[in-house]
Amino acid sequence: MNNEDKPRLAIDMDEVLADTHHKFLTLYHRDYGIAMDIHQEPGKELHENLPHDLNGQWKIYINEKGFFRDIPPMQDAIETVKALQERYNVYVVSAAMEFRNSLEDKLDWLGDHFPFIPWTHILFTGEKIIAADIMIDDRIKNLARFDGRKLLFTSPHNLLITGYERVNTWKEVAGLLL
Ligand SMILES: [Mg+2]
Repeated sequence: MNNEDKPRLAIDMDEVLADTHHKFLTLYHRDYGIAMDIHQEPGKELHENLPHDLNGQWKIYINEKGFFRDIPPMQDAIETVKALQERYNVYVVSAAMEFRNSLEDKLDWLGDHFPFIPWTHILFTGEKIIAADIMIDDRIKNLARFDGRKLLFTSPHNLLITGYERVNTWKEVAGLLL
């Protein structure tokens, strides 16, 4: 199939391609002894599960240069995205403008883990006002106004949300789209 003719697939980074939760937990564990397997209440943000005085710490971490540079990729994400490229025009779409230091880190991170995605298919943006056929994201604020097929990638904070087609793992994404 001609590249131009392939459907466009837009994929989010944090908590979809990148295990950002794990990075936060690593830092909370390192600095405050929080257990890596802390109970995460369904529907709550990770920081809402922490002792009250740590609720705002995530904003300090996330704005530090380097925060986004060494996040582990989500399980099976690399192989699946590589396979999806055969059938789709894969775009990475990240609201990177929210954290100014994230831009360079995210670009370098993609170069490390997803070097097969060309720069022309990396969209660092504010609101995700994009034209694509399918969008995979863990935040319904990004999916809500999207016109195509919406796949909600499961994360503890979105477990109580209903009314969306849901994918729990990259293996499930592969099962649906490949
Ligand atoms: Mg996300």
